[in-house]
Parts: sequence; structure tokens; C-alpha cells
Amino acid sequence: MSTSSLAILPVIIAMLLIFIGWIVCIVILVSKNKSTNTNTVPAPVHCTSCGELIPNGSQFCPKCGAANPYSAQYSYANQDGPSAGFAILGFFFPIIGLILYLVWKDQTPLKAKSCGMGALTGFIFNVAVSVIVIIIYAVFAASLLSMYM
Ligand SMILES: [Zn+2]
Repeated sequence: MSTSSLAILPVIIAMLLIFIGWIVCIVILVSKNKSTNTNTVPAPVHCTSCGELIPNGSQFCPKCGAANPYSAQYSYANQDGPSAGFAILGFFFPIIGLILYLVWKDQTPLKAKSCGMGALTGFIFNVAVSVIVIIIYAVFAASLLSMYM
């Protein structure tokens, strides 16, 4: 085997590892987003002042008239939910994922969490890939050098 064909080997190994890593990360992100889907349905709450059951999305308690502190969140809850698509977007573009997380975290926390999780996973993955590639090249360079010394 010539030295030029040997030099391509670490590139192939690194690309294969990156490809496997992508698939594993995306599968984990998608499965995590599906498992929390039940959180999006608003549940009836008890009044904070008298304890009476307040119907879904109602702004005031039907018994004492106290304001329901969760009603504002419920109006957003209909548009909120974990999103596998945004998680994958965040994974490939961590900067966009981080921006979307900061924009959405108050109004649609579940969707924001998907973006944040994707961005975090993507960032960690990029760092891990860089480290792996450097290690593979270092090991390979060392073994090539030892052949000629
Ligand atoms: Zn009440």
C-alpha cells in the first residue's frame, strides 16, 4: 500500500464515525420529542384562592372569581409542543437553535426546549467530532512516522 492511499484511511474512518453519530443523535432527539407529547394538553386546575376546579382555559374561577394564573399559558399551549423538526434544525445549526430557544422560551416553552436540546446536542457533537478527528490523525501520523523511523 502506498502512502497516498494510506493517508485517505483516517478521512474515511472519521467520516464514517460522523455519519453514525448524526444518525444516533437524530434518533435520540426525535424519540425524546415524541415521548413528551402528552404534556401539550392543558389539564383542569384548582383555584389558587378557594380550591374550586377551574375548567380548561377559563380565565376566572367560577366560584370566587379569582383570576386563573395559568390561563395566559393555556392560550399559548395550543401552539406549543415538542417539535422534532426544530430539534433537528437546532442540531445542524446550533446558533439558530439557540436564538429560537431564547425567542420562544417564555411563550412556547416546549417548542423552545426542542430547539435548545437540538442546539446543545449539535454543539456537543461538533466538539466531540473535532476531538475524535484530531485523535485519529494523531494516532495515524504517529504510526506512519514509526514505519519510516
Ligand atoms: Zn376560586
